[in-house]
Amino acid sequence: MSVEHTGGRERVDAGELPRAREGTALYVHLPFCAAKCHYCDFFSVAAEGQDIDGLLAAVRREIELRAPRAPRTVFLGGGTPSLLSSAQLRELLETLARVTGFGDSAVEVTIECNPESVEREKARVLLALGVNRFSLGFQSTDDRTLELFGRVHSVEQSLRAYDAVRAAGATNVNVDFIYATPGQSLQAWEATLGRIVALAPEHVSAYNLTFEEQTPFRRWLELGELEKHPEELELEFFDVTRARLSAAALQAYEISNFARHARACEHNLGYWRNREYVGIGPSAVSKVGFTRGGNVKSVGEYMRRIARSGAAGVWSETPGANARLGETWWLGLRLAEGLTADEARERAGLAPTVDALDPALAIAERLAAEGWLECEHGRWRLSARGLPLADALAREFLRLGAS
Ligand code: SF4
Repeated sequence: MSVEHTGGRERVDAGELPRAREGTALYVHLPFCAAKCHYCDFFSVAAEGQDIDGLLAAVRREIELRAPRAPRTVFLGGGTPSLLSSAQLRELLETLARVTGFGDSAVEVTIECNPESVEREKARVLLALGVNRFSLGFQSTDDRTLELFGRVHSVEQSLRAYDAVRAAGATNVNVDFIYATPGQSLQAWEATLGRIVALAPEHVSAYNLTFEEQTPFRRWLELGELEKHPEELELEFFDVTRARLSAAALQAYEISNFARHARACEHNLGYWRNREYVGIGPSAVSKVGFTRGGNVKSVGEYMRRIARSGAAGVWSETPGANARLGETWWLGLRLAEGLTADEARERAGLAPTVDALDPALAIAERLAAEGWLECEHGRWRLSARGLPLADALAREFLRLGAS
């Protein structure tokens, strides 16, 4: 195995991770969707013609070999996990329960669902199998926008799906939305926010539309067929989202995530607090100790590798101390709770030090002097001015990895 030293980290060319500790968060990536959305750059493929049962058999094998015991959280993501039949989901969740014992350990078990593939009976089966959080991909309350997105459901189907999971007994529901979409006015988004609030979900994820590389949306933007809103207007969308949702007791606990009291997504909080996690399935990434590694991004190749050796990792890397520290600040500042310098060092696996020797603290102090961060009793947070620029500001900390 070759090892290459790059900017404070070791990169190795095969994914070999130790087995994760008991209690580690568990993510399972199920890559099939009804169709590929035009803005999406996640690893997912249209389900038609795919060997879904073959992939699920490989995922179950990887669970047997790599899943942590007693995970604190479980997240079935994708892709569109709800696209699987109730029987397929049952087999998967029963394997997970037998291997990990998550039924006694997990405080949160989430499944991502799309409106076209979840109905009351399926939701009831999922609840009986231990799922206790449903994340529904609404994305828009405008049928023309859904069509532009390449989504295969209507607004009416979204609302029916919401009612179906509630009728089945779900008490923790997230709805996903994208704002600042082409042609969308601020007034139209405000009206949508009103409709979201009226549904009374426990959690809302609301993202500014991004035009990711290698997506039709990016191509259409470059061809001038789609228009991006000016930055000032995007900031207004951001502000109005926070104001409207917080007025309805949905607090912004992360830049794009809002929750009622105690309903923040525990699984995602683990990512932002730079905790360990195990990812199962094609393209899934894991972090065990301070080493990250990822599986191959191909359904066929994933199945072949699992059949051959039981492992599908194709890369792993161990960031150096400064890179880990920078990443911890980069992630932690996304949260409303912020972080202290000592917490950041602990999460990065570093011993406490005097302030003057902490390179991340020097960056935080500079950004605070410029008005982007604030510090209260040693806890650092983005300021109101810094919040909408979280990504750019947080990148300042990632530069530590190059030092
Ligand atoms: S349903 Fe989700 S994962 Fe699938 S293509 Fe659309 S956005 Fe991507």
